[in-house]
Amino acid sequence: MWRSLRRSHSLAWLRLGALVAGVVMVAFAVGLSVINTHEHRSALDRQLAREDRKQVTAITEYFARARDLLLLQAQNDAFTDFYAAAGTRDTKIAEADPTLVKAVGSLSYLEQLYKGRVGEICFIDIHGAENARLVKGRQAAFAELSPDESHNPFFQPTVDVGVGSVYQAAAYISPDTHDLVISNSTMLPGLPPGDQALVHFEVSMASFASINSDLNIRFLIVDATTGATIADSAGRVPVNAEQAPGDMAMLQQLRTSGDQNGIATINGQRAAFEHLRSTRTNANDWYIIAASAPADAGLGGYFDVRSMALIGAACALFMLAFLSFRGYQRRLELAAVTDGLTGLPNRNMIAADAQRALELRRRSGGKVAVLLVDLDRFKDVNDTLGHQSGDQLLTAVGPRIRSVLRDADTIARLGGDEFAVLLPSIHGPTEALEVAARIRRCLRDPFVIGEIALEVEASVGIAIAPDHGDDFMLLLQHADMAMYNAKLFGLGASLYEASLDSHDPRRLSLLAELRLALDHDELVLHYQPKVSIADDTVCGAEALLRWEHPQRGLTMADAFVPYAEHTALIQPLTDWALERAIKDVRAWLDAGREIPVSVNVSARSLHDNHLCETVAHLLDRYRVPSRMLVIEITETAIMTEPTKAREVLATLDAMGVQVSVDDFGTGHASLVYLTTLPIHELKIDRTFVTDVCTRQDHAVIIRSVVDLGHNLGLRVVAEGVEDDATRDRLALAGCLFAQGYRWSRAVPVDVLDKWMDSRRTPVGRH
Ligand code: C2E
Ligand code: CA
Ligand code: CA
Repeated sequence: MWRSLRRSHSLAWLRLGALVAGVVMVAFAVGLSVINTHEHRSALDRQLAREDRKQVTAITEYFARARDLLLLQAQNDAFTDFYAAAGTRDTKIAEADPTLVKAVGSLSYLEQLYKGRVGEICFIDIHGAENARLVKGRQAAFAELSPDESHNPFFQPTVDVGVGSVYQAAAYISPDTHDLVISNSTMLPGLPPGDQALVHFEVSMASFASINSDLNIRFLIVDATTGATIADSAGRVPVNAEQAPGDMAMLQQLRTSGDQNGIATINGQRAAFEHLRSTRTNANDWYIIAASAPADAGLGGYFDVRSMALIGAACALFMLAFLSFRGYQRRLELAAVTDGLTGLPNRNMIAADAQRALELRRRSGGKVAVLLVDLDRFKDVNDTLGHQSGDQLLTAVGPRIRSVLRDADTIARLGGDEFAVLLPSIHGPTEALEVAARIRRCLRDPFVIGEIALEVEASVGIAIAPDHGDDFMLLLQHADMAMYNAKLFGLGASLYEASLDSHDPRRLSLLAELRLALDHDELVLHYQPKVSIADDTVCGAEALLRWEHPQRGLTMADAFVPYAEHTALIQPLTDWALERAIKDVRAWLDAGREIPVSVNVSARSLHDNHLCETVAHLLDRYRVPSRMLVIEITETAIMTEPTKAREVLATLDAMGVQVSVDDFGTGHASLVYLTTLPIHELKIDRTFVTDVCTRQDHAVIIRSVVDLGHNLGLRVVAEGVEDDATRDRLALAGCLFAQGYRWSRAVPVDVLDKWMDSRRTPVGRH
C-alpha cells in the first residue's frame, strides 16, 4: 500500500509533467506553425518576385533586340534598290525582279534569326499595298498579296514615329496565322517621299509565355487596360482577344497592390507582378505576372493546418510540434552559418544555396556557375599594414562584390581572402566570364583603409554545372583549379577545363615544351592565301602557327594554341607570330609583292595595350605600311571584356591596321553591337560555308551576312571553301573573297611563293 501510493504519486507527477509538456508543446506548435506560414509565404513571395523580374527582363531584352535587328535589316539596300529598279511595281513583283528576290532574302534572314517566333513578315508600300510577304517561311504569290494594309492598327503609328524608330503594336489576331500576335514595324530609310515603305513582322504571344517557364510558376501577361489575359504559360492562350473578357476585378486588385510592381493574392494564389508601361513606340501596356501554380496547396492550406492543430488529436499536435521544432532548429542552424568577420554567408550556406540551384537545374535545365575569387597579394596587406587593416579590407570587399551581382546570386566568404560566388541561373560561360570581369573591375576602385587607398587585384576561377560537374564540392574544387591557373599565369579570370587541369601532367609538359620551343626556334608560320573569287587573284594571306616538334613532327595550331591561350604563354607566342609575319611582308615587299597578312590574336590581347604597342613598334622597325596588317579576332574574344576591346580596336584602327572578325556566326555577339566597332572584315565561319550547297538555311544566312556586310562597307570572306561547287554557290550569294583547300592549304612561305609564280597571277589589292 505504502509502495503503491508512492508509485501513483510519482505517476501523477509524471502525468502532470507530460501534460504541462504537452500544453507547452501545443502552444509551441501553434506558434511555430504561424512562424512557418509567414516564412513560407515570404520565401514564396521573394521567389515569385525574382522569377517575375527575370520574365520582365527577358521580354524587355527581346523587345530591344527585335528593334535593333529590324533597324539594322531596314538598312539593307535591297529595299531601296527595289524602288530604283526599272519597271512598274506590279511588273517587278509579278516577274520576280532580282531586287525583289533580294528583299525577300533579307526578310527570311530575320525569320531565321527568330526561328519559331516570327509568324509573318512583310514589306509594304506607303500606300498600304504589300510588295512581299513570308508566312512561316513560305513566300506569298503575287495574287495573295494584300492590296491595302493601311487600315491595320500598326500602319499609321509606324508612319507617325518615322524612319529610325520601331513601333510595337498592341496584340491583335493575325489574319495570316490566326494567332494572337504583336508586331514590330519600321519605316525604311533612304527612300524618296513618294516611294516610302515599311517592314513589318509578327510574333505570336504564345511564344512569350514559354520563356523561362518553370514547373511551379505560372507566367501571365495581362493587358493593363482591358484586363484580358493575352499570354499564359499554363497554356490557356486565348484564340481571340475579344473572346477573353477582361478580368476587371483582377486589374483592380493589381492596381491597388502597387503602382509599378508588387505582390497580390489573386484567386487564392500568391502572385508577383510588374507593370510594363506603354510608350510612344510601344502600344503594349502590360502586367507581367508570376503566380504560384495551381498545383500549389495555396495559402489557405496552411491556415487549415493551424486550425486543425488547435482541434486535432494531441499526438498530431506533438508530431507537429516536433516537426516544427526541427524546422525551427534548422533555421537556427542556418542563421548560424554566416561568417563571423564579414557577416557574409559562409561555406555551409552557399553549399545549401548551390544544392537548391543544382536541383532546380536538373529539373528545368540551364546552367549554374560557381566562381572562386581570391585576392592577389593579400598577404602583403596583412604583413605591411597589420591584421586589423587586413580585416577591414576583407569586410569591405564583400559588399563591393555584392553590388555587381544580381539578387538571386550568393556571395560567401570561404575563409582567408577567398570568396565564392554562386550564379544560380546563367546561359553559358560568356555570362560567367562577364560577371568575373565585373567583380575584378569593381575591386580595382581603391578601398580607403585608414589613411591608405588600396587597389585590389583578384583572380577568379569559374566552374559551370553541368559541364564541369553537378555537385557543389566538385564545382568548387574545379573553380579552385581554374583560379590557381588564373593566378599562376596572371590571367585574371579563367574557366575550368578538364584538359587544363593543373594536375594533368600532359598539359604541364606540353606548356613547358612549348616554352622551350620558342627559344629553340621550333615554331614556324604557314600561310594560306585569301583569294578574290571573281578573278582568282591572291589578295592576302593568313598566317597560321605550326610547331615543328622534334619528335612529333609538324603540329597544327589546334593541337597547342588553345592550351597556350589559357596561360601567359600566349603573349610571347602572339608577339613571335606578329614579328615573323611582318618580317615576311617586308621580304615580299622587297621582292615586289604586296601581300597583306592576317595574324590571329586571342582574347587576352584585347585586355591591355600590349598588342597595340607591339604592332606599332614592329611596323615601324620593319618599315611596313600599317594597311598591310590585318588582325583576326573572334566575336567571343571581343565579348569577354567589351569595353577594353573597343578601346584596343579603336587604337588599331587609328594606326591604320585592319581588323577582321574571325569565325563570324559562331559567337553570341549581337550583329548590331559589332557594327558599332571599327572593323573592316567579316570571316564567315567554316560551319556555314561547308554545307552551303546542301543547307538552305545556311545559304540564306550567308547571303544576308554578305548583304549586310557590304551595306556596312565591310569586306566579307568565306573560310573553309574546299571545292568548286561551294565556291560557285558563294559567288551566287554575292561573296567576293574566299579561303580554303580549294586553292591551297596553309604552306611555308617558299611554297606559297612557288605556287603564286606557277599561277603567274598578278597580285590584286583589297
Ligand atoms: P582559324 O583562324 O579559324 O584558322 C583556320 C583553320 O582552318 C586553320 O587550322 C586552317 O588550317 C583550317 N583550314 C583552312 N582552310 C580549310 C579548309 O578548306 N577546310 C578545312 N577543313 N580546314 C581549313 P589551324 O591552322 O589548325 O588553326 C586553328 C586555329 O588556331 C585557328 O583557327 C586560329 O584560331 C588558331 N591559330 C592559328 N594560328 C594562330 C596564331 O598565330 N595565334 C593565335 N592566337 N591563334 C592562332
Ligand atoms: Ca583566323
Ligand atoms: Ca576562322
